[in-house]
Amino acid sequence: LLKTTNLCKSFDELEVLRDINLAIAPGERVALLGPSGAGKTTLLKILAGLETPTSGTVENHAQRNAFVFQEPRLIPWRSVKNNLLFVNPAGDYKEALRSVEMADFADYPPADLSGGMRQRVNLARALITQPDLLILDEAFHSLDLGIKMRLMESLNQHWQENPFGLLCVTHDPKEALYLADRIVLLSARPASILAEIEGRPDQQWEITSPDFLTRESELIQ
Ligand code: ATP
Repeated sequence: LLKTTNLCKSFDELEVLRDINLAIAPGERVALLGPSGAGKTTLLKILAGLETPTSGTVENHAQRNAFVFQEPRLIPWRSVKNNLLFVNPAGDYKEALRSVEMADFADYPPADLSGGMRQRVNLARALITQPDLLILDEAFHSLDLGIKMRLMESLNQHWQENPFGLLCVTHDPKEALYLADRIVLLSARPASILAEIEGRPDQQWEITSPDFLTRESELIQ
């Protein structure tokens, strides 16, 4: 579905990516973990065609790509509903908004939503396009723990119903384990692939259970 070959990127003297060889099969879910500033966003921007590589190639065979970047970019003068219908006029916007728990906000302008809500709409807007390849850059970062867990659950359900390739960048190893079949670790700059590990041990967190919350607080401490 997606393949990079010896992808390199420098900004003038600054070498950010070195020889990135990453392949994602149709329906495969990959998480990209790496330290801040390693070059994860730069890699995604190259995959999205927003940056050009200094050398190397990207082959993208997806019919429909959807990207969710850190900063929600909704069209400010369109309602939530019309932001979704803009990308897929035939899409089921109600279902898409329901899956991110935003069904009650269909007629709101983006300016009246919190940052986290805008991010959820952003995710719904990506899902309504029914992508073959969904690329997420810290998409759950600004969300609190409860909604974050439910959205990841919802994303997994979407995937079960209709598998899509997923590449998600995150700082959170738990998020990577929860969402991905395979985890790719990037080294610090210049980023290159350090290791690839299997994700998704057969853990299904019961997100409302006290046990989960205890484990979570242990991890935070
Ligand atoms: P974070 O996890 O903090 O978001 P990241 O791994 O996504 O970090 P990038 O945003 O890709 O890292 O940035 C990698 C490096 O490239 C940084 O040092 C950044 O300053 C630099 N960089 C990114 N874009 C540009 C640009 N357009 N011009 C010059 N330098 C840039």
